[in-house]
Amino acid sequence: MTNFPNLIDGEWTMGTQSVPNVNPSDTNDVIGHAASATTEEVEQAIEAAAAAQVGWGKSTPQQRFDVLDAIGTEILARKEELGDLLAREEGKTLPEGIGEVARAGQIFKFFAGEALRIPGERLDSVRPGVEVDIRREALGVIGIITPWNFPIAIPAWKSAPALCYGNAVVMKAAEAVPGSAWALADIIHRSGLPKGVFNLVNGKGSKIGPVMIDHQKVAGISFTGSVQTGQQVAQGCAKNLKKVQLEMGGKNPMVVLDDADLDVAVDACVNGAFFSTGQRCTASSRLIVTEGIYDAFVAAMSKTVSALTVGDARKAGTQIGPVIDQRQLEKDLEYVQIAQQEGATLVCGGEKIEGSGHFMSPALFIDTANHMRINQEEVFGPVATIIKAKDYDEALKLANDTEFGLSAGICTTSLKYATDFKANAKAGMVMVNLPTAGVDYHVPFGGTKGSSYGSREQGRYAAEFYSTVKTSYMQA
Ligand code: ADP
Repeated sequence: MTNFPNLIDGEWTMGTQSVPNVNPSDTNDVIGHAASATTEEVEQAIEAAAAAQVGWGKSTPQQRFDVLDAIGTEILARKEELGDLLAREEGKTLPEGIGEVARAGQIFKFFAGEALRIPGERLDSVRPGVEVDIRREALGVIGIITPWNFPIAIPAWKSAPALCYGNAVVMKAAEAVPGSAWALADIIHRSGLPKGVFNLVNGKGSKIGPVMIDHQKVAGISFTGSVQTGQQVAQGCAKNLKKVQLEMGGKNPMVVLDDADLDVAVDACVNGAFFSTGQRCTASSRLIVTEGIYDAFVAAMSKTVSALTVGDARKAGTQIGPVIDQRQLEKDLEYVQIAQQEGATLVCGGEKIEGSGHFMSPALFIDTANHMRINQEEVFGPVATIIKAKDYDEALKLANDTEFGLSAGICTTSLKYATDFKANAKAGMVMVNLPTAGVDYHVPFGGTKGSSYGSREQGRYAAEFYSTVKTSYMQA
């Protein structure tokens, strides 16, 4: 058993309270205990970050490269071991866990390179003899609040750009996955980064979040989580005139047109809807299918989905791991009931699987209409619906008829429809013949409408949030 302490000003501290970290595949398996930070400890972490940021903000591109590159190298070298810890505490399958860890390593490598090419501009002034330069500077202390569904990738894609642009960090990871956050903090701690620049505080979001949001020395908050919490975070940041970036929910459509390659469509829909147990904000939860391919698609989906192997996340052959915890399992099962009460027909799955973990068979519904709650509210579990559409135009309309706008996909062999969908889908990310989930690490990630707020994450676009612009005028 392991302890997952807080990291405050370069010191590990367990404090007086701790919370067990339980394996969702087997609730008898307690992985370790996580510290639960007090308000005073969070304030200490913020003060330490503010003090350390002064020096880190002046670090050279080479120093930043060396630190970020070293972090990326160690993560990549340990991807199997860390992937196993991730699968054990979060419940995604071992290959998915290892893949996520590799992605975290690649993110640090990407931002190591970015540290060497932080861009600026030099312009002549409109006044004679005056020159103007425009440079990016660190924001200061960044508060990072992360969810449980990507326990290392999301902490990586927030902390790597934060450090790259010269900021200090206080990170609060989700309560359900303290192990991966601790492993990342440990690697960062040993990377050569000056003490205090990166701090980790574990514990309840409703307690720690407000301390970070209200603290005068935190310059910005980057949050990923639910819409409800995101709204609270944004309101708190607005009150304190703090920069904020939110990534929240999705109700992502996947359109399947008559001319689609059926195998490609079924692969994309099964992967997008059910892999990672459907616990991805980019999951395809609404499959919008045109009339000509509808019967064949429903038959092929039902055959593939009912044959998926649900089991222990770390067991070879498992395709769908457990749901994160009891509360989420109850929520998923409640939505299965809600859909049926609304008149949807359950084609397969939707049942609790008895055992020592939080297992549920993946649920597929037909006879659903887009206005139903099952098609408007995010479930965040292994539940997908099929909606019949007359033609492409109706499918596009249904796809966009949602308060969310994170990712949208289409399966088609028609260049005309693919091009039109890329132009007219109201989403931050559009996929053609690919699952709505599963994105690259070097390009922007984020959505429109109720899915995201503030500037984009990842790739070069991360600079928008993690830096501020200074315009200097000089007369020689
Ligand atoms: P989920 O339902 O996926 O757990 P949440 O939005 O509740 O989504 O959690 C996402 C992150 O936000 C977690 O780290 C959680 O601890 C944190 N959190 C929860 N409540 C608050 C809050 N009031 N302020 C700031 N962060 C919070």
